[in-house]
Amino acid sequence: MSVYLDHAATTRPEEAVIDAMCRCMRTCAVNPSAAYAAAGEARRELRLARREVAKALGADPAGIVFTSGGTESNSWVFSAFAGRPVVLSATEHHSVLHAARAWRCAVTLVSPDDQGIIRPEAVERALRPDTALISVHWANNETGMLQPIEAIHALSQRRRIPLHTDAVAAFGHTSVDARHCELMTLSAHKLYGPQGVGCLYMAPETPLRPLLAGGGQEGGRRAGTENVPGIAGFRVAVELAQASLTQEQERLGQLMSLLLQRLRDGIPSMAVLGDPARRLPGLCAVHLPGLSSEQAIAALDLLGIQVSGGAACASRSREPSHVYRAMGLTETQAGQVLRLSLGRYSTPADMAEAADAIIGVWRRYHR
Ligand code: PMP
Repeated sequence: MSVYLDHAATTRPEEAVIDAMCRCMRTCAVNPSAAYAAAGEARRELRLARREVAKALGADPAGIVFTSGGTESNSWVFSAFAGRPVVLSATEHHSVLHAARAWRCAVTLVSPDDQGIIRPEAVERALRPDTALISVHWANNETGMLQPIEAIHALSQRRRIPLHTDAVAAFGHTSVDARHCELMTLSAHKLYGPQGVGCLYMAPETPLRPLLAGGGQEGGRRAGTENVPGIAGFRVAVELAQASLTQEQERLGQLMSLLLQRLRDGIPSMAVLGDPARRLPGLCAVHLPGLSSEQAIAALDLLGIQVSGGAACASRSREPSHVYRAMGLTETQAGQVLRLSLGRYSTPADMAEAADAIIGVWRRYHR
């Protein structure tokens, strides 16, 4: 039996999501832009999904533009601010950090405190008179830390600077509200939807220049035939996540306590990164002194336990995570962190099995 503790990397789509996508591919394989009546069915799918995603965010459906996922949405944001001064948190996902650099923005990074929190005062200190955009994620994908977005938005509004938030790690796992930002990035595959689809939310006063040139899809804002089955799957994933949000948060919180307690009993020197009061219930990073995450991941994989040492997109690089480094861990310590992310299919038995395996690996390999 395998135990999957890498839901922050991606989640297995729900059966209802797969059903909706298959139905869509079988029954509405038409181009939503076509002029004949049958295309109306595909346009209806887009309309329903736009409404559902907007409802979950407390937003106007007109502000939702479907994209190929979080990376495209983030890149789009920085393309629209190309060459201009932007303030970003140092613990953003690479699709934010690298996009800002690729579009030659003048980047000022805001470091988190030692608990992984981006303080509004620190954001304020980083602003310049000509700062064009602030970007701070809603929740961190490597530590689960929830950022004080409401307070950062109050500040950005006072200074009349648009706020972008990458809510990919948060959406579907905690409540996320579009009223606390002007731009928001979402991705379906972190909430049991399909890979390769997501959206960018834009407040009416912050229309962005399109990134992709071509047809007039998505109201002329994002060219390219819409991924109708993917978008239909995204809608069902959002519906399911919203329906069980509170219960699932509670259940995951209990599972995480079980896992961490058992780990602490076996590895007294273990440290949980970040402020536990501000964490997504199902996501947490633990420092296991003396055990390299690379070795731990490989040894655990042989035991059927799937974990990561930070963001999956960066796991092939040998560099320790910039997030853990930014929180004050040394290079060696940052290379000894495991990210444990639980999900809808996790059980108490999984927690016991994973904890015992991690303890066993730590005893065998730590030095
Ligand atoms: N932002 C965050 C916080 C993420 O975790 C990810 C996915 N690893 C992305 C953006 C990129 O999203 P996608 O995989 O949909 O391109």
